[in-house]
Amino acid sequence: MKNEYKVAIIGGGIVGCSIAYHLAKFGESDVVVFEKSYLSSGSTGRCAGGIRQQWSSPNNVILAMRSVSLFEKLSQETGVDIEYEQGGYLVLSYDDQEAAQFEKNVEMQRGLGLDVQILTPKQVKERYPYIDVDGVRLATFCQKDGHANPHLANFAYAKAARRLGVDILTHTEVIAVEVLKDGFELFTNKGIVRSQILINAAGPYSREIGKMVGVDLPTESYRHQIMVTEAVKNFFDPMAISFSGNFYMRQTKHGQFIMGQGDIDEKPGINNDVTYKFEKEMAKKMSKIFPFLSKLRIVRHWSGHYNMSPDAQPIIGESPKVPNFYYAVGFSGHGFMLAPAVGEALAQMILYGKTLHVDISELNLDRFEKGVVREKNVV
Ligand code: FAD
Repeated sequence: MKNEYKVAIIGGGIVGCSIAYHLAKFGESDVVVFEKSYLSSGSTGRCAGGIRQQWSSPNNVILAMRSVSLFEKLSQETGVDIEYEQGGYLVLSYDDQEAAQFEKNVEMQRGLGLDVQILTPKQVKERYPYIDVDGVRLATFCQKDGHANPHLANFAYAKAARRLGVDILTHTEVIAVEVLKDGFELFTNKGIVRSQILINAAGPYSREIGKMVGVDLPTESYRHQIMVTEAVKNFFDPMAISFSGNFYMRQTKHGQFIMGQGDIDEKPGINNDVTYKFEKEMAKKMSKIFPFLSKLRIVRHWSGHYNMSPDAQPIIGESPKVPNFYYAVGFSGHGFMLAPAVGEALAQMILYGKTLHVDISELNLDRFEKGVVREKNVV
């Protein structure tokens, strides 16, 4: 660890490592990433790895589309096979009002250049005879959506960033930050470091990091549980999701089924416990919709956190209050899939003063002063 860096990033999840990699790729490798535990120990390593471009808000569609084009090259670019599969995302609606909204979403998504289809329940059954479509009103499908292994994608960015000269320090916790006239002083469990620029990529702890520099980030973390079955031969290509049905599920490259749901009774806060209630509810619901699952044993169950923002869209940009303090936080359950585009955009913003591929100006903190239009497509 040096005493001084141009850029310090707090958080060694996929967002922090993607930002670090893109900064180095664009020529700035005087960068340090502080990770208080091991890489991918936060939400990233606990997530389902879904990569979806079908959103209700144009900003998310645009970021996800850019991310997909970066995910497509990531294994080759970094030399780490991230187990990326584009088997499509099947979005099932069980609610008439939601189905009507899906038709509007598809119009908007197609307008942005996304190739997305609307499927009737009969068409879903024809494509995927092993899904019970009872109650399904309508579905949408995008073949270019898919999934990857979140640990490997996190490691891929870290490995490539290190190769370009970035210092990534695990088991190094930032405990306090002092804002100086010309930068920041970071107090860590391994010593004191100065940086000109500070980036908050601390996932579930984003608000705490904001507080350290006197910036109130309106994010709150909620526990989400997730479980995985034993492995069987691969046959299930898409990732299936439903907002009205409250579930998501996919088969991994190694044959396991991984699945989760949201719980409206969760209170904000960090809580890594798991509950039997989750397993019972998931097993019952999922075996009805995907009858083949009833034959499989659950092998593991864990929890992680969604770092929620008020409109369920990320908060990205530079603080208007503390110059050179940047954040990429509040991903609201979809930060894995947005990390490539966000890392690239934030690196460009810092180095060139503007982004080159996607416009992230509408995702700054100021937006909440104008009111909140919530992203609807979140489980
Ligand atoms: P994290 O991965 O949490 O990384 C932040 C890191 O900061 C942590 O490793 C933490 O240890 C570190 N840190 C915090 N404070 C400090 C400090 N003071 N000093 C040093 N280090 C610190 N997203 C998708 O796109 N697709 C999905 O299918 C999906 N499924 C999900 C399923 C579940 C069950 C959960 C919980 C989340 C899911 N998500 C999904 C959301 C996704 O996991 C997150 O949005 C994403 O991983 C956020 O990445 P991050 O790098 O911002 O945060």
